Amino acid sequence: MDWFTNINWQAGFSAGRFFWIEWHFWKVIGWMGTLVFSSRFIVQWLATEKRKRVVVPSAFWWLSLIGTMLLLSYAIFRRDSVFIFSYAFAWIPYIRNLIIHRRHKKAHLECPACEVMCPPQSNFCFACGAQLESHDAAS
Ligand SMILES: [Zn+2]
Repeated sequence: MDWFTNINWQAGFSAGRFFWIEWHFWKVIGWMGTLVFSSRFIVQWLATEKRKRVVVPSAFWWLSLIGTMLLLSYAIFRRDSVFIFSYAFAWIPYIRNLIIHRRHKKAHLECPACEVMCPPQSNFCFACGAQLESHDAAS
């Protein structure tokens, strides 16, 4: 335990430092961005484990988008060209995926009998077998 007693605890928790980090507004934004951005992997992993197949839920794209915006703000504050460039265009595929997600969800048909959402262009409900109305007939 020599390494533990040799840690400079005094320096880590004094003069505006907490866990050796000097905190200020932009540092909080940067850390929030890192946490939000990293949490998307946990969300995606849990969704995949739940369905037993690779799934990318819309929450993954929302967390990507929010995390990227926070990290981009921090990068601009830091005026770091490499860091800014890494996040400057990442939002484009995130927003595109959210749009596609939304359109795909909207295209699904709700079963009038059991209210389960069925895949687009289904003729019958996969859960109860009731006949589904097509979008053309419904509108
Ligand atoms: Zn049904």
